Amino acid sequence: MSTLRFHAVKETFNREPIKVTEPERRSSIFGNNVFNENAMRQYLTKDSYTSIMDAVENGTKIARPIADHISTGMKEWAISKGATHYTHWFQPLTGATAEKHDAFFETLSNGQTIEKFGGGQLVQQEPDASSFPNGGIRNTFEARGYTAWDPTSPAFIYGTTLCIPTVFVAYTGEALDYKTPLLRALQVIDTAATAVAKYFDKNVTKVNATLGWEQEYFLIDKALAASRPDISLAGRTLLGHASAKGQQLDDHYFGSIPARVLNYMRDLETECMYLGIPVKTRHNEVAPNQFELAPIFEETNLAVDHNSLLMDVMDKIADRHNFKVLFHEKPFAGVNGSGKHNNWSLATNTGVNLLGPGSTPMKNLQFLTFFINTIKAVNEHEELIRASIASASNDHRLGANEAPPAIISVFIGSQLTEVLDELEKVTNGKLSPQEKTDLKLNVVGKIPEILLDNTDRNRTSPFAFTGNKFELRAVGSTANCANPMTVLNAIVAKQLMDFKKQVDGLIKDKKMKKDDAIFNVLREYIQDSKRIRFEGDGYGEAWEKEAKKRGLSNHKTTPEALKAKVSKKSIALFEELGIMSKTEMEARYEIETDEYALRIQIEGRILGDIARNHVIPTAIRYQNILIENVRGIKDIYGTNFKKIAGEQMQLIEQISKHIENINKGITDMINERKKANKIDDAEKKASAYCVKVKPYFDIIRYHCDKLELLVDDEIWPLTKYRELLFTK
Ligand code: ADP
Ligand code: MG
Repeated sequence: MSTLRFHAVKETFNREPIKVTEPERRSSIFGNNVFNENAMRQYLTKDSYTSIMDAVENGTKIARPIADHISTGMKEWAISKGATHYTHWFQPLTGATAEKHDAFFETLSNGQTIEKFGGGQLVQQEPDASSFPNGGIRNTFEARGYTAWDPTSPAFIYGTTLCIPTVFVAYTGEALDYKTPLLRALQVIDTAATAVAKYFDKNVTKVNATLGWEQEYFLIDKALAASRPDISLAGRTLLGHASAKGQQLDDHYFGSIPARVLNYMRDLETECMYLGIPVKTRHNEVAPNQFELAPIFEETNLAVDHNSLLMDVMDKIADRHNFKVLFHEKPFAGVNGSGKHNNWSLATNTGVNLLGPGSTPMKNLQFLTFFINTIKAVNEHEELIRASIASASNDHRLGANEAPPAIISVFIGSQLTEVLDELEKVTNGKLSPQEKTDLKLNVVGKIPEILLDNTDRNRTSPFAFTGNKFELRAVGSTANCANPMTVLNAIVAKQLMDFKKQVDGLIKDKKMKKDDAIFNVLREYIQDSKRIRFEGDGYGEAWEKEAKKRGLSNHKTTPEALKAKVSKKSIALFEELGIMSKTEMEARYEIETDEYALRIQIEGRILGDIARNHVIPTAIRYQNILIENVRGIKDIYGTNFKKIAGEQMQLIEQISKHIENINKGITDMINERKKANKIDDAEKKASAYCVKVKPYFDIIRYHCDKLELLVDDEIWPLTKYRELLFTK
């Protein structure tokens, strides 16, 4: 095994950057492999084109005969680009993307062959999908789930396959994927936000939620990754002593990008351009070998698809460059983990960012309306947000003193805090003309148009306002953004609906003017949602205590956090909004708790294997060398040997102690796993894995890592942290 380690390190040393070709101008290839407006104009009849655009903009249905035209145009376009196959591309609840390729090629009864792609094949497919998680919704013997075309996300060509973004639903109508509830939530926020935006501008007819994610990841050499069973199977190291140098010197962050990595990024970004993913920013992150990639923000459904696609493309291109991408939230202990900040806002069809302060008091009142409603929504549903970002891997980040804590709070900066403090003093009831003028001039009017550069950044906040958008920072790097985005858009939509009702009520019943009514409701909201606002250090123990006093949840583990997904409150919310039924929510809950248990189970097995079959035998080998040494010393020095061989003898004993502890840890862990496996109830099983099994990971690791420090480097089988993190 140690030969594998040294072989991998040597191979890595000998790597050269892979040559890449880039276009002179990225704009010249952007979207070349996407069936976008340009391509549609060229390949579709006017009717078909209008029909798709109408579906994208207004959610109208596409008539079947039109779909036949569209599929023909799409096929011709795809073939002209070299595509031979097509697939319905979807996002089942495994977290990965799924595809099953079919050739356009068909034979006719007369023996002739043609390329065919009908409207039926575009619109709906029935993958044999019995192995995707469904949480008991679909009886597997029926396996009746189907994929249906989502025209709001354009088809694209990857490799030689035409990929058609689709939803994945059971024949009984329940969602089996991430996209379906997201689309429903986006629909709801559109309606709710448009209604409120109309208070300020009658011309608003549509509001899009926007999302700009920032993808963090580690990149390590493929050979190094393959030399570690834990990285290969679990995507993270389950043991390994810290490198003497880690990220203490901050010398990697924003440093010059290593040549091999830079070529990887250039290659990746070129592919992204073809696929219409508007990537813009790349840089080194805090930890060694950690990087980040961010696009220009887009409409949320498209942005989510683009992130899923990107993760897939990243994997494939990494292989070409002899790298492995680690998306795991915490691949290495002791250095920073990876997240996926979700920058979120609302944009009107009139081109206004509803979370961007404006140049007039009225525009700022609009800004404050959406800003305060968002805060209120987070206050009401902080537990559901926490649940939406919960996963076994993200547990390593949240609350681990580097990423946001597991407590959800909102950071808004000192300037906006002052504004809200002033608004809180607004008179109850009708406002006097003097007060109104005063408010408009001195409070609302004072919000600087460009807050962007003025917002003090608070890196410890899980949900921060950053000038013209909110940034949900607690999302994990492996996550599908659809999960938190469904929740965020749903809760804000619900909040805006309530707001509209209250404001309209005051206008009608209390004969208030519109702005009086808005000020009144906002004042109440500010008072009601104070507990969620926190400007201090989110990592501190003081905040944990304070948050507890405020009644905020602090779920440190996934099994605890997930429960909010099936609380009465959450089910009522999603049912009211028509986003998910109780059955769908319970199914998802079961899938996620189940997945949690499985992941911990897998990690437990890997750790047991490495510790018992790699670490202990190596330790014994080294111990035998020591024993030989002591025996030799005894041969030469006779009874006096203990004085000379004392250190070695201590080492021998230490090694035995560690071996003993590791063995005991593994045996106890296996016993707990056995007990957990007997539990039928998914929730209880996940909890057993969390509380009873997982704690052994730390114990076993501790002793393995101690052995790593004692045993001769020459025979240590596992590629070490310094090699994984610093070999480029
Ligand atoms: P960082 O958090 O690393 O400092 P930024 O604050 O510059 O980075 O975040 C940039 C991200 O915010 C990008 O992904 C960008 O697309 C996104 N973003 C900017 N404006 C919006 C918006 N109105 N809606 C959604 N995302 C946005
Ligand atoms: Mg960010």
